[in-house]
Amino acid sequence: MAKRLVASDTTVAPVDDKAPVVRSLSGLRKAENECHRCPLYRNATQAVPGEGPNHAKVMLVGEQPGDKEDLAGRPFVGPAGRILDRALADAGIPRDEAFVTNAVKHFKFEPRGKRRLHKKPNAYEIERCKWWFEQERAIVKPELIVALGATGARAVKFVVAVGFSSRRPGMSASAIGTSRLTTRMP
Ligand code: SF4
Repeated sequence: MAKRLVASDTTVAPVDDKAPVVRSLSGLRKAENECHRCPLYRNATQAVPGEGPNHAKVMLVGEQPGDKEDLAGRPFVGPAGRILDRALADAGIPRDEAFVTNAVKHFKFEPRGKRRLHKKPNAYEIERCKWWFEQERAIVKPELIVALGATGARAVKFVVAVGFSSRRPGMSASAIGTSRLTTRMP
């Protein structure tokens, strides 16, 4: 338990470029749990891989797992998950038909007493973790990727051309034939 109360980026943790190319979602879970590509693995409980059908039409990309997700090993099960469930219900999309994931797979936090406060991943961590997001995208091949906020947008390379910002949500068609949509974070 004490391990989880160490600030995510106050430790000197080895990073390691080696990471496999994986062909299945179950393989990704194992590989992400063994990942040392950035220091965030060091203090999180476990990696939180994407979850959903192998060939979901819609992929939702958030920022990073929160406290509840870190403990459960599943994405969007905490407060953000409840908001997402309501939004999906309003849009008429059953949650179990969407693939939900995060740009960064390990929880980054700052300890405050017994609590762990969310800390935004930096550009380096997002870039390093893109290795896994790209593999999820290659396996699932969604028709639409919905970036939930600026970090998710960064992971899907939805930048500059349409104003990389939660202030300017928008939609575009990508070179790989997948549409991308940015949203505001609630
Ligand atoms: S956050 Fe991503 S890149 Fe960093 S250790 Fe975890 S899985 Fe690897």
